[in-house]
Amino acid sequence: MGKVTGFLELGRELPKKISVAERLKNNKEFVKMDEFSDKIMGQASRCMDCGVPFCHNGCPIGNDIPEFNDAVYRDSWEEAWHILNSTNNFPEFTGRVCPAPCETSCVLGINQDPITICNLEKMIVKTAYKNGYVKPKSPTARTGKKIAIIGSGPAGLAAAEQLNSAGHFVTVYERDEKVGGLLRFGIPDFKLSSDIIDRKVALLEAGGIKMVVNAHVGVAIDACELRKKFDVVLLTGGATVARDLPIDGRELQGVHFAMEYLAQNNRRVNNMDLKTPEIYAKGDHVIVIGGGDTGSDCVGTANRHGAASVLQIEIMPIPAEKRTVNMPWPSYPMILKTTSSHEEGVDRKWSILTKYFKGDAQGRVKELIIADIEWQSALPGERPTFKEVAGSERSVPCTKAFLAMGFLYPEPKGIITQLNIELNAQGNVQTSNFQTSQTGIFAAGDMRTGQSLIVRCINEGRECARAIDFYLMGNSNLECMSSSLIISD
Ligand SMILES: Cc1cc2nc3c(=O)[nH]c(=O)nc-3n(C[C@H](O)[C@H](O)[C@H](O)COP(=O)(O)OP(=O)(O)OC[C@H]3O[C@@H](n4cnc5c(N)ncnc54)[C@H](O)[C@@H]3O)c2cc1C
Repeated sequence: MGKVTGFLELGRELPKKISVAERLKNNKEFVKMDEFSDKIMGQASRCMDCGVPFCHNGCPIGNDIPEFNDAVYRDSWEEAWHILNSTNNFPEFTGRVCPAPCETSCVLGINQDPITICNLEKMIVKTAYKNGYVKPKSPTARTGKKIAIIGSGPAGLAAAEQLNSAGHFVTVYERDEKVGGLLRFGIPDFKLSSDIIDRKVALLEAGGIKMVVNAHVGVAIDACELRKKFDVVLLTGGATVARDLPIDGRELQGVHFAMEYLAQNNRRVNNMDLKTPEIYAKGDHVIVIGGGDTGSDCVGTANRHGAASVLQIEIMPIPAEKRTVNMPWPSYPMILKTTSSHEEGVDRKWSILTKYFKGDAQGRVKELIIADIEWQSALPGERPTFKEVAGSERSVPCTKAFLAMGFLYPEPKGIITQLNIELNAQGNVQTSNFQTSQTGIFAAGDMRTGQSLIVRCINEGRECARAIDFYLMGNSNLECMSSSLIISD
């Protein structure tokens, strides 16, 4: 612990952001990290190096947070980088977009503001790249074993880096023309710039991982043929089937899944082929249906397009502003979240029922009919129900609607059917110790767990890499949260 009294002397500070008016002019990241560099050692000194550091547990990959905080406080940046990178393959991604369950479990958070762990992480990575501490991870010897990874999101890439470092030949197959999964074609560039992904992908390739893009396995490439060429196949194709809204008017022009809008915008921002008819919200009355993070990304994107108005609606009631007795520290609290995209301008409403869309003579969406609902408390074990508030039905202008109501499961056709992979009751890939119903075929990430978080997918990739290494070699030195055991699920 660098400074015993740090947490008594300093409060939590966060980096400043570029003004809303300025940042809405483009799709660039807007957090002013450079100006924050003279604050960072003070912020690291707030860490209490607790006897039982709950942040380790809060973090799905078990980052050694007090240890890297201490190294930063001592101005030992290379050491901080190695500590951070020993548990996290991609701190440049998590530092930017992780919801930071570590911060909500920080002991200081019991009665003060927690350590700003994500910003420390971001600054460590920034310094590490600047000072040349980040190197490709090439193995010293090769095992001769060949592994195909299908899907290049955080789960696939984390597994690739781990398995390559263990000496296996790793080939990643990606159906898009660039690697990254939802990091690249989901999360907006203003939260995670594509340059940051490119920089890491170049390092993975320099370490010996082969990336094959425009390679749709199960469609353009026969999955069974691919299986014959590799000792192991790992499926990390994500869980991209979105929840639909089967109400009247769903078919009208201007009603889209959120991902159609977000993925296309990242293509536009990076001068790539849009691939689908243009969806641009300039001058539109935008309604985002779904109050979560995907919805928030649509809000930020619509404001950058110059929407005339942006309304985000959610069927569930407004969450509590602070922890309640049902969500005590150190659990992750499901409290009201106001993101940087919300700060940029949006009207948010909760307990709203979407009844039907109305269109104009050309078949374009014109209005959405909504109503207020009242939630009734449920008996233990039962689902809560709601009833419509009489007389609350009304029309709101809507010339673009984005459906952001979550994701159901992986795409059931293609690789899953070709390889005859069993699914579980939720429609995700069924596994035992990460191995699917087919010997030598493994699965990890959202495809196995359902839509999740980047940090959880990094953990999935790391755990699965260890299970594969064990399967191929009979033992494994690959580190992950459960290095000392093999998980059974
Ligand atoms: C809009 C949006 C915003 C999000 N924001 C955040 C956030 O801020 N923070 C956070 O922690 N999480 C966020 N998430 C969740 C996070 O992005 C996902 O949980 C994570 O990316 C899943 O990783 P994955 O590796 O399992 O799959 P994915 O990232 O979904 O990648 C799967 C890849 O597999 C490819 N693929 C699929 N099938 C095939 C095939 N047959 N052949 C070849 N390639 C194939 C796909 O093209 C894709 O590139 C967000 C999700 C969305 C949708």
